[in-house]
Parts: sequence; structure tokens; C-alpha cells
Amino acid sequence: MYALRKRILVTGGAGFLGSHLCERLLNDGHDVICLDNFFTGTRDNVLHLLDNPHFEILRHDVTQPLYTEVDEIYNLACPASPPHYQADPVQTTKTSVLGALNMLGLARRCKAKIMQASTSEVYGDPEVHPQPESYWGHVNPIGFRSCYDEGKRCAETLFFDYHRQHKLRIKVARIFNTYGPKMHPNDGRVVSNFIVQALKGHDITVYGEGQQTRSFCYVDDLIEAFVRLMGTPDDFTGPVNTGNPVEFTIMELAEKIIAMTGSKSKIIHKPLPHDDPRQRQPDIQLAKEKLGWEPKIKLEEGLKPTISYFASLIEQGLI
Ligand code: NAD
Ligand code: UDP
Ligand code: UDP
Repeated sequence: MYALRKRILVTGGAGFLGSHLCERLLNDGHDVICLDNFFTGTRDNVLHLLDNPHFEILRHDVTQPLYTEVDEIYNLACPASPPHYQADPVQTTKTSVLGALNMLGLARRCKAKIMQASTSEVYGDPEVHPQPESYWGHVNPIGFRSCYDEGKRCAETLFFDYHRQHKLRIKVARIFNTYGPKMHPNDGRVVSNFIVQALKGHDITVYGEGQQTRSFCYVDDLIEAFVRLMGTPDDFTGPVNTGNPVEFTIMELAEKIIAMTGSKSKIIHKPLPHDDPRQRQPDIQLAKEKLGWEPKIKLEEGLKPTISYFASLIEQGLI
């Protein structure tokens, strides 16, 4: 057991995905350092882990160097929702680029293996559908989303240059829209917005006509993919798409959530945000082949615990 226990750093560990990952890694018997600057993450997400002697929280910003000893790094630190990452776009680019650089420097010194939480946004508003990893993307370099999209693209570049130049063991996951309990209730992402609106009886805000599509992956499926990716042989670096290929229009999502919550909310339309991709669906052939992975949890199944989570926040008067 002692030899199998790894020291694993999760940056952005107090966020939505990071907190689920910390829990999973502890359950797998590892020592976990959860690093976060608490910009969009919260201690509440990891409160239940604080009693575990193998868990520690580090308040730190990844744009600053970090000296510690670790065996593996999952680099998740970065606000993920458009309103949050656009609130301070310069900081978003710094987080992606300087954060990646520092974590790669740390991995290099420690000879640690490192995984980057990249994103489907590297494909921009895609002209190829569904998107395979070989597609280079259709990205606006100077728009409102660019701090995130280009920041994540540059982070991928750094990962591959460290791999080629310094023989670093890297893994890159391109994550597609993921949802589940512990999503930030006010971060403006569509699943959390619609559920909170439906539960509170507020209007459901569909941007545009709602005919744009997304493919939604439940968090447990995604975390399984992360762990499998980290465990792949060193010659497999990715990038690998991780997401659920079942595609829905935003209107269909709104109708499903209204039906599942029994809400009386009505759907209203608001303007489409800048550079909002019209469609997004992962091609997950590579993940199936290399990780032996595909999502198991259907949208309705995953929405149930997600709705219960937000209902309990409302009951407790927290939102
Ligand atoms: P989140 O906002 O809940 O989590 C991000 C975490 O990073 C937060 O805890 C935040 O406080 C922390 N953070 C931000 N800037 C930091 C900094 N400079 N230093 C230290 N910590 C910092 O978002 P999430 O959905 O959990 O996303 C996690 C990662 O996955 C992000 O890198 C995101 O780009 C990526 N991703 C997520 C999705 C998704 O659908 N959830 C899709 C694609 C990619
Ligand atoms: N770095 C870090 N922790 C370490 C080693 C490096 O945060 O344990 C940072 C370091 O400050 C630098 C970055 O990672 O900004 C890249 O480090 P590397 O050694 O690869 O390059 P160099 O220092 O030569 O630029
Ligand atoms: N969206 C919406 N209403 C909302 C929030 C989002 O119609 O209240 C739409 C948004 O325009 C986009 C899709 O839902 O087309 C997914 O948005 P999200 O911000 O969750 O993720 P991303 O655009 O990054 O995929």
C-alpha cells in the first residue's frame, strides 16, 4: 500500500471538477494536495475531505512558482464559465499560460507526470462536426472568448514542447461540457442556470433560438476518464477528447429540465453571447481505443443528482 500511495497535486482542486477528482484520488488511496486560489472554487466543495489525514489544501495562485514534491499533477486551475473567465481576461490568460508553465516546471524538477485540463474550446466555433483531435480548430484570436480559448491552446503548446524538449510525461484531455453536483450555482453555465431557474420558478433564459447544440457529460464519467488517461503508457500523450457524444439542442435541455423539476417556469429568449459556438460534439473514438472508456451516465440519470444538489442549496438558503 505504502509504495502504491502517490503524492498527487490537483490544481483548481476546490472547483467543480477538481473537488470530485480529489475525492476520487483519496478513495484510490493517494495523498492529495488540493491547490486553489478560491476564485471560483470554494472550501465547501472539499469540506467533507478535510478530516482525511491524506488530504491537504494549499491556498496558492498557479501564476506564481510552486516548490513542492509530487509524483503526479492534474492541472485544472482556470475559471471555466464564460462570465467568470471574461471578468478578468488578462488573469485568465495568465492562469492558463503562466499556470501551465509553472506546473510544467514543477513536473520537470520532480520528474512527475502531468495532465492538462484542456477544453473543446480549442476547436473554437468548429467547421468540422463532430470534432476529432486532429481538427486544428476555428478560433477567433481577438474576441471575448479568446483569453480562454487561446490561453488553453498556448497551454497545450507548452505541454507538447516540454514533452519534446524535456521528455516530460504529459497527458492532455480536451474536456467537453460537463455537469453535476458542485457546479458553481452562479457561474452562468447552462445546466446550472436552467436548474436553478426552474427550481426557483424564474424564467428559463435560452440564448438565441436555442437551436445551438452541446453534448453534456456527467462528472463521474469524466473523472473516470482523467484517472484512466493518467494511467496510460508514457508514449500516449493525447490530446484526447473526453465528453459525452450524445448531442442536444439547448431548447431540448430547457424542456427536459422543466419536465424533470415539474417547474412552472416559462422559457424566454435572450441575445446569443459573442462567438457562441453553434454546435459541439466530441468524437470519442480515441478515448474508446486508448482509455477503454466511454460515458455510461445518460443525461436524465445525471440530471437527477444535479437537481437534488441545487435543491439542497436552495433549501439551506445558500442560493
Ligand atoms: P471551476 O471554476 O469550478 O474550477 C476551477 C478552479 O480553479 C476553481 O476552484 C478556481 O478557484 C481555481 N482557480 C482559478 N484560477 C486559479 C489560479 N490562478 N490559481 C489557482 N487556482 C485557480 O471550473 P471546472 O468546471 O471545475 O473546470 C476545471 C478545469 O476544467 C478548468 O481548467 C476548465 O477550463 C476545464 N474544463 C471544464 C469544463 C466543464 O464543462 N466543466 C469543460 C472544459 C474544460
Ligand atoms: N517552477 C516552479 N516549480 C518548480 C520548478 C519550476 O514553479 O519546482 C517554475 C519556474 O519558476 C519557471 C517555470 O516553472 O517559471 C518553468 O521552469 P523550468 O525549470 O522549466 O524553466 P526555467 O526556470 O529554466 O525557465
Ligand atoms: N446558454 C443559454 N442560457 C443560459 C446559459 C447558457 O442558452 O442561461 C447557452 C449558451 O449560449 C451556449 C450553451 O447554452 O450556447 C452552453 O453554454 P455554457 O456557458 O454552459 O457553455 P459553453 O458555451 O462554454 O459551451
